[in-house]
Amino acid sequence: MARILLADDSEIVLQLIGGRLTAEGFDVVSCLSGTEAIAHATQRGPFDLIILDVMMPDLTGLEVTRKLRREPSCSNTPVLLLTSLDGTEDKVNGLESGADDFLTKTVSDAELVARVRSLVTIRRLRQQSEARATAATMLAERHAPTDRVEPHLYVVHDDPEVREQLLSVCRNDRELAPQTTDVAAELAHLTRVAPDLVLISFQRALEGALPLSEMMLEWASPPAILVLDPQPSADRRIAAYQQGAEDYIVQGTPEQEIAARVASALRRRQRYRSVESARDRALEAAITDQLTGLYNRGYFDEVLRGECKRALRYGQPAAVVLLDIDHFKQVNDTWGHGAGDGVLREVSRRVTRTIRSSDLAARYGGEEFIFLLPSTNAADAQIVADRLRVALEESPFEVGTERILVTASLGMSVTTTDGTDARRLIELADEALYAAKRGGRNQVVTSGRREGAPAVPAARCHLCDAVDLVAGLLAEDLENPLAAVRMAAQLAPNVADESTNVILCGVRDGADAVLERLTQLEVALNEASREHVCPRLHGPVR
Ligand code: GH3
Ligand code: MG
Ligand code: MG
Repeated sequence: MARILLADDSEIVLQLIGGRLTAEGFDVVSCLSGTEAIAHATQRGPFDLIILDVMMPDLTGLEVTRKLRREPSCSNTPVLLLTSLDGTEDKVNGLESGADDFLTKTVSDAELVARVRSLVTIRRLRQQSEARATAATMLAERHAPTDRVEPHLYVVHDDPEVREQLLSVCRNDRELAPQTTDVAAELAHLTRVAPDLVLISFQRALEGALPLSEMMLEWASPPAILVLDPQPSADRRIAAYQQGAEDYIVQGTPEQEIAARVASALRRRQRYRSVESARDRALEAAITDQLTGLYNRGYFDEVLRGECKRALRYGQPAAVVLLDIDHFKQVNDTWGHGAGDGVLREVSRRVTRTIRSSDLAARYGGEEFIFLLPSTNAADAQIVADRLRVALEESPFEVGTERILVTASLGMSVTTTDGTDARRLIELADEALYAAKRGGRNQVVTSGRREGAPAVPAARCHLCDAVDLVAGLLAEDLENPLAAVRMAAQLAPNVADESTNVILCGVRDGADAVLERLTQLEVALNEASREHVCPRLHGPVR
């Protein structure tokens, strides 16, 4: 339930607006003055939205907003100002004080609720997207221009004259990203870049071929959307907010006010961006080994757990290689700890050059390095492991004025078709590593458990594949189970006709029914044909 702080010096307004929001399911905390509002916001938070009356006897809504913007705990909370005024200058002042929008007290209930919902939803979406982003996607995004100086603003409007006017409002001392006059092309382009703000006509945002609600799904971090409407009405305003608009501007609004609304939306965006980039830096430090710049053990373990699950689900092998430098203590003892550190850095440079970009290298402990090779069977992993060994042995390490010969022992393990958990996979690689040490060092040993066994199942059951795909896609929390079923049908086009029919039935009966029927089918097929070798036979689906 979203929490809202509401401050107004009129009991009647509190009852009217507070009552309406409570009836809509919001948790409303009310107070009668600006001073109280600040105390509540800073001590009883967090709130999802703060609604402030502009005219209050002790502190005005504008003053409260300015103070709240300086409080770290509420600097990101959206603020909505309530006013009986409706002049451009007041609006500009309100937006400049850091408020996100304002409504006159005469606003209809429906519009009040729509606006409140949209502000709360946008905030929640951003918080969720932050929480949901995995370490890997955050790192990929690290190279996105999050800390660029110039914000990226785009104008999407079919009327060239209005478009020019909006562009000049947006320009306002800013350098704009290149824009095209081909509006359809511009829309498609927008979903591929990371805009900060899009000023878009109502027609294109809500009535075009690519509606706003669909565009919102394409962006990892959605921009601020300002919808401009030439035929304003309460219904259209509500529709715009519901589709994800952050602001709704009546076409013909004075340029000064549009400029203030653009600046206000950008400030909000900037606040999120700075949170994002601080988070990225903290995250990067948390998963990186300081000495070598490789990933650290914690991150490796986390990625490996995910990879083991994927390996099991899709019947794809994954290999782990553990590398321990031979007699490393002697390097420290003979040339000093600094030289030892230099060797560790050079090892990390050499191994990084040796593996593929899809492989993952990490420093696992003092002089131990570990590698994850996704979609790699034992035979291929053996080749990679030996290449790593040779990369160290082949030429001496130059550390300061010294030339040091360095070798390493390596142990390797591969997932099995019935699933190997991450911890076990590392234990197996570790046992193999010790065998390599015992065997005389500077060599690779493969974990003995499945030696000689093919890492990939010889024959997979197409039905099992389909069941796995459906189960896997569902497990990935796809919001739409039917989409999962359709994707499974696309991914496993070679499933028997009968099972394809079953999958298509899912569109009618739902995904659970499909899983059940696929299992029955699998069992029936296994019983009917002795030749059909199904690796799981009558095992449970999930
Ligand atoms: P083995 O061939 O059996 O692996 O012998 P080893 O000497 O490599 O193994 P041992 O475990 O006896 O010694 C590891 C050494 O690695 C001891 C430790 O001081 C050193 N070491 C661990 N971390 C670091 C580091 O960050 N920098 C430096 N310079 N040395 C480190
Ligand atoms: Mg060691
Ligand atoms: Mg060692």
